[in-house]
Order: sequence, then structure tokens, then C-alpha cells
Amino acid sequence: MMTTFHATPEFAATLDAQDPLRRFREQFHIPPTPDGGESIYFCGNSLGLQPRTVRAAIEQELESWAQQAVEGHFHGVSPWISYHETMADATARLVGANPLEVIVMNNLTTNLHLLLISFYRPTATRYKVLMEGGAFPSDQYAVESQVKLHGYAPDDAIVELVPRPGEHTLRTEDIEAKIQEIGEELALVLLGGINYYTGQAFDMQAITKSGHAVGATVGFDLAHAAGNLVLHLHDWDVDFACWCSYKYLNSGPGGVSGAFVHERFANRPDLPRLAGWWGHDASERFQMKKGFKPMTGAAGWQLANGQIIALAMHRAALALVDEAGGIAALRRKSEQLTAYLEFILRGLNLPPSILEIITPSEPQARGCQLSLLVHKDGRGLFDYLSEAGVIGDWREPNVIRLAPVPLYNTFGEVQRVGELMAAWAERVR
Ligand SMILES: *Cc1c(COP(=O)(O)O)cnc(C)c1O
Repeated sequence: MMTTFHATPEFAATLDAQDPLRRFREQFHIPPTPDGGESIYFCGNSLGLQPRTVRAAIEQELESWAQQAVEGHFHGVSPWISYHETMADATARLVGANPLEVIVMNNLTTNLHLLLISFYRPTATRYKVLMEGGAFPSDQYAVESQVKLHGYAPDDAIVELVPRPGEHTLRTEDIEAKIQEIGEELALVLLGGINYYTGQAFDMQAITKSGHAVGATVGFDLAHAAGNLVLHLHDWDVDFACWCSYKYLNSGPGGVSGAFVHERFANRPDLPRLAGWWGHDASERFQMKKGFKPMTGAAGWQLANGQIIALAMHRAALALVDEAGGIAALRRKSEQLTAYLEFILRGLNLPPSILEIITPSEPQARGCQLSLLVHKDGRGLFDYLSEAGVIGDWREPNVIRLAPVPLYNTFGEVQRVGELMAAWAERVR
């Protein structure tokens, strides 16, 4: 549904009144402003807000530990030994996978390394990795170190995609052309599902198809896509993916990460991997035998027994997504909320010499976030918004990222940010 928008508080209030997700805001702790009001939190792309249900979820596990100690592994409301399994269905729904294909464990960069060990298998002739230029630094370092681990030179093995001159985002046709060009030398395509800086969402299905057509493996870092976009990892035929849970999934700082391994690798004990006892065939895990025998599916990439407190936070947060009607319901509101923010920003009528929105305009090419490239007084705008209680973030050299999220942000907040920016626009114009 796309409405004709208006920039008035009354219009925003009407949209909020019609919002089927409006009751979810009160399930979150909204950070207060110094004067005791509520901040306008547009930073869920960096750290999602705390769901109110998280505290009780943690306390339940603390109670199990206090009362049952080691027996908590096998008894209690949710025995720790199988704790991660209780999230398989919700995780699968979230990313469009079957439960066998997903696992929650570790942190994102750790999972990226574990997956790269299995899925970046360079040979003398096929060893190149295609990435976004200016990918999130952790991804750059992970790939650089993996390339070196295999004895290749990063400058030679890593190929970076850059936008055309004068453009800020990548065209799918250019990504596909680059895949073609590298062809038989291409071992791996590794992109973010959404680029953290520009907010551009990639056509993961088309990219996967192109990568496979030249014989490459295709994986995605979904840090900014999980909980933000509707994903169909299984149907898109993606080989592997991983994501963190503390951004759009509201699972707390340093929260547990998710990993996806396509079903076709579910029964491939021959795939090289770094192993630990939690990835070993669960039926004989406690026999403490020699000889690693991986579990079927993504579970076979686990190393260690689960971080129960982090998993408890994640499970509570995931439950809210399901309660809200799943990712498709979130996305419906999100498209409208971000479109409203774009409408409000365009309504400022600022020339591109002052402010440009570098995030694509097409809904399918972005998620919640809009990235504003501010050529004049960028830091001034950011500080002014911060002082007015708007929490976004600043990325050097001059980008402000604003991400209204569907679970707890409102159209009223977007309208209010527009008013604040209009006052700033008067000053800089
Ligand atoms: C947020 C983010 C990370 C962070 O990695 P951690 O291992 O969770 O610290 C990595 N990659 C991308 C693309 C991100 O957006």
C-alpha cells in the first residue's frame, strides 16, 4: 500500500492510528532524553532497542542455574542442552530456510570465518573473491586473512565492486558483468545483503544465479538484512549466510549470531570445517569418542555449547517478530515508514550540493535505512539532531544514517525529524 503522504503531524497521527503494529512500541524500552522525554531512536540498524520481555527471559535462566546448577542442562523450562533447537523454526521463518539449514551460535565474524573455512576453497586457478568495495571492515579483515591463510595475496585475490563514476550504489547488471568477467577464476562471491553504509539491498537471487553460472560459491553477510528484509535463502539457492542479532533483531549488544548453510550441504561430512564437540552427532556426543562425525545440516558447524544468556535474549526478541505477524508484516510497515521518511526529506527541497540521499529509492533495493550524504554542515546537522533527542549515527566522512524500524518507530517520529530538519535547512540554504 502506498499512500499519498503529507508532512503534517495530523497526517502522521492518522498513519500511526492505522498501524497494525502500533502496540509493539510499548514492548520496548525507549531511551529517555535528558529532560525525561522519549528519544527518537533511528539507530536500530546499529543496536536494536531492548524488548521488555528480555529481562524475564534472562532471569528464568539465572533461576535455573541457581536452583538446578548442572541439572539445568537437562531439566527446567528449557533445558540448556537443546536450547538452540528451540529457535530453529523461528530462525528458519525469518530467513526463508528450512530448520535444518539454520543455527544460532557465536558472533557474526566468528561464523563468517567458520563458513569461509568450508566455502572458500581456492585452487591454483580459481581463487578470487568478489566483494563490495568498502565492505564492513570486519568482513574485509575476515576475507583478507582467509585469503592469506590459503597463501594468496589479498590485492590479487580480492576483487572489489565499486559504483560507476558519479553514482553511490552498485547496479545489479554491473555486479553480474563483473562475475562474468572473473569467470573461472572466481571462487567466491561474498556481499552484504544490505550494504551497511549506503543502505542498498542487493538482488541476492540474481547474484546467486550469476555466481553459480560461473561455478562460484555465493554467500551473504546479512547483518543489515536479517529482521529487515523478507529473505528466501533456500529458494534463492544461496550457499551460505550469516548475520548478527543485535541490529534489527533486538537481541542485545554482542548478541548471538545466525548461520545458514543450504540443504545441499546438509549431508556433506567431507566438507572441510573447524570442528568442536557441539557440532558432533548429538546421539553420541557424550560418548567422548575419537573421530568427528558432524551433525546433519547447519548444526554441524557448531563448536561449543550454547551461550544460554545470549540465546535467551535472542529467543525473547525473535518471539516478538512472530507475534507481530512475522517478517512480512514488519516489512509492510517498514516500506511505508521509510518511504515516508524519504518523502519528508525530499520535501525539504535541498539541492544535492547540500544533501543527497544515497540509498536507492526503489523499495526492493533498500530496507529501513536511509543514508544521507550531507555536503554542507553535516556534523552540525548530526549534533543538532542529537541535541533534539534524535539518535541516528554518523559515518565518516559525512554520512548520517537514519533507520526508522517497524517494531517500535512511528510515523509521528519521522514527521518530527522532518520538522527539525526543516529548521536546519533554513539555516544552511
Ligand atoms: C554489524 C556488522 C558486523 C559486526 O560483526 P560482529 O562480529 O557482530 O562484531 C560485521 N559485518 C557487517 C556487514 C556488519 O554490518
